[in-house]
Amino acid sequence: MTNKALIAAAILSLFMTAIMGAQSWNPPGSFVDKHGQLRLEGTRLVDENGKPVQLKGMSAFWINWASGARYANRDVVETLVDDWGCTVYRLPVGIEPDGAYIQNPVKYQEMVKDMVEACLEEGIYVIVDWHAHDTLGFGKQEADFFKWLAESYGGYPNVIYELWNEPIKQSWSDEIKPYTQKIIDEAIRPIDPDNIILAGSSNWSTDLHLCAADPLNGRNIMYSLHFYAGTHTGWLMGRAEKAMEDGLPVFISEWGTSAADGGSNGDLYLSESRDWIDWMDQYRLSWCNWSVSDKKESSAALLPGANPLGGWSDGEISPSGRFIREMIRK
Ligand code: MG
Repeated sequence: MTNKALIAAAILSLFMTAIMGAQSWNPPGSFVDKHGQLRLEGTRLVDENGKPVQLKGMSAFWINWASGARYANRDVVETLVDDWGCTVYRLPVGIEPDGAYIQNPVKYQEMVKDMVEACLEEGIYVIVDWHAHDTLGFGKQEADFFKWLAESYGGYPNVIYELWNEPIKQSWSDEIKPYTQKIIDEAIRPIDPDNIILAGSSNWSTDLHLCAADPLNGRNIMYSLHFYAGTHTGWLMGRAEKAMEDGLPVFISEWGTSAADGGSNGDLYLSESRDWIDWMDQYRLSWCNWSVSDKKESSAALLPGANPLGGWSDGEISPSGRFIREMIRK
């Protein structure tokens, strides 16, 4: 072949790779193929046809810890979709301590890329979670991260941005809201005008009343509500109901069947969890359960030593995991 023919063949091959790659993402019949670009209508999450949509799925565990990283792979996502029926997957990108994102951004961007693409291949939504309790000192790093994510995948309807997992004692109006608004306005929205963004609030993302009184500006912004069935009870449902009445869109990006410590003493609150699930169904609130991990705590969905490549038998899934799998499949 001549040089020109070689160049033409190379261009054609790149073009075909791009086309084939695009075809293998959000395959026909997959959940995202059916529902497409999500948006808000008032407080309701709706799909591209304007129909209300409720996402249900699992959150990974901190991917900077071994018990989370071990299960953050494509095979596990496939099991969660094909066997568990998940329509959303959450990826908690731990930013601290040593060895986590802030010290090693390139490593974790590779993991995020792999996992977002796994969700694109399976045709489900994916929440990329800046998993921090205090990120006020890391605005530059977070802005760079979400710019990269928006540039790479913001054109796909799959991606949902979660900007601050769980602030603790920071002030909503004086610290969390201005920080979050800046990430939205300066990092994400100039690149991706429409995908859903989740904002966290003080007291481990439970202070929805403060957000309702002083909300963020912009389109398609929701507020994460986190709860643990053994700790949080009807008072938090009531607070969320009032916030929704006041116009606040709510997304349960993390909840557990244990107490708020994750269940280090083995306690499980399945009856209370069922009440919360009924409540979330009543309001069509989307949720992710914490977590895909084999850590020795009762909120973990897997038992120690469960296969890192998914395809789990009942004997590899914890009581919490078996309950949640049933709740997602029903
Ligand atoms: Mg977009």
